[in-house]
Amino acid sequence: MRKNLLVILIVIGGVAGAFCGWFFGPAMESFAFLGDLFLNALKMIVVPLIIFSMVAGIASLGDIRKVGGVGWKTLVYYFSTTAIAVVIGLVLVNIMKPGVGVDVSSVAMTTTATKTAGIIDIILSFVPENIFQAMAETRMLPLIFMSLLFGGVLTTIGEKGKQLLDICKTINDVLIKIVHLILYFAPIGVFALVANMLGKSGGGDAFFAEVSKVGMYSMTVISGLAIHGLIVLPLILFFLAKRSPLRYGAAMLEALVTSFSTSSSSATLPVTIECAKRRGVNEAAADFVLPIGATINMDGTALYEAVAAMFIAQSYGIELGFIHQVVIFLTATLASIGAAGIPQAGLVTMLIVLEAVGLPNEGIGMILAVDWFLDRCRTTINVWGDAVGAAVISRCKELNS
Ligand code: ASP
Repeated sequence: MRKNLLVILIVIGGVAGAFCGWFFGPAMESFAFLGDLFLNALKMIVVPLIIFSMVAGIASLGDIRKVGGVGWKTLVYYFSTTAIAVVIGLVLVNIMKPGVGVDVSSVAMTTTATKTAGIIDIILSFVPENIFQAMAETRMLPLIFMSLLFGGVLTTIGEKGKQLLDICKTINDVLIKIVHLILYFAPIGVFALVANMLGKSGGGDAFFAEVSKVGMYSMTVISGLAIHGLIVLPLILFFLAKRSPLRYGAAMLEALVTSFSTSSSSATLPVTIECAKRRGVNEAAADFVLPIGATINMDGTALYEAVAAMFIAQSYGIELGFIHQVVIFLTATLASIGAAGIPQAGLVTMLIVLEAVGLPNEGIGMILAVDWFLDRCRTTINVWGDAVGAAVISRCKELNS
């Protein structure tokens, strides 16, 4: 099937899903298994793909110093764009003041009982006690750590390592081929996921009723994501990666629609890698930069966490000055790094931000009802941010010498 046709079918799948979910509401739940099938297939491939793509990507850089150079640039790039996203969120929330005048008693509902992971826990989660358990639980940070180590050491054992590298590259090619096959099912999978998400929320009218309860808050998050995704990242792409944002965005459409429908950067990773390589992003950059991005680079999540924390403060009438907002800036950035690339992970790590500035945890109850939708929007920006990062890092001198 021609690639363009597939992209068109995936987009049609999403639109038709929204239409059916809107009008048929909960009845669409009977199609949910088709969405689960698609999601399972992506999750099935993501663990081996991370391991082999990272090992192949790192080892094909050939020299551990090059790995270090690209690694640092990747981290600095990801950290900077996340910081820009948080600043956009903070500026908007200070201008739009979505929480002022919100009646806390009428909207506050249940709070998540989940205990948040602290910063020490995030650091600890890099090194797994048992790598197989980490694989079984699809925990990305330890997998990345182990693959970095393995790929890095592979470059230091000379000729002997070459054979193994070839095998890893071949397995990586096979996995990418399987991703191609999974994508043929994407139009149906995306249809079912979108129809089910809207259907479950009770259809179009119920959805609007939910969103409008915290309408200004949702507007602030969505405006921030739009500014970051449609202005900042395209400018970076244009000036630093010397690419046309429109063409690159179009090439990434499959990944973007998949991220919206799955609300998981990790599950979308196989598609993101496939799209980036097809668009001529350096293979090593795609293999190395994208798995790291899917795990630690969450511009959308960071922006949302900052806006949500400020919204909660405004609703409770708690004044947060400059210093507190700097704390929000730092903790939202960190919390987004710690958030896993799975649905609504940001909601949990947001407790780090709330605790850092002493905001009431139960404030989360106010934004719970719309989170499933905002999660999809921020995941899309997370994935777009990763893809732009891969294009920028692709131009590093280490990758082109
Ligand atoms: N769902 C997001 C992702 O996978 C994480 C989050 O913000 O909840 O990128």
